[in-house]
Amino acid sequence: MAVPKRKVSPSRQGMRRAHHALKATGTAECSNCGEVKRPHHICGACGHYDGRQVYTKAATV
Ligand SMILES: [Zn+2]
Repeated sequence: MAVPKRKVSPSRQGMRRAHHALKATGTAECSNCGEVKRPHHICGACGHYDGRQVYTKAATV
């Protein structure tokens, strides 16, 4: 609810912001290379997803 800025004490403001901290996101291990990756995303290290290669770097020989 909107309240005039100066009507909110620094203490109240701090209490409200006590819930603003970011939580660490979940992690998953790549089943191909074991690298830590984000769940439901392709692996940034080897490009595998769901047990298959879905992305290869252009420079890879
Ligand atoms: Zn991988």
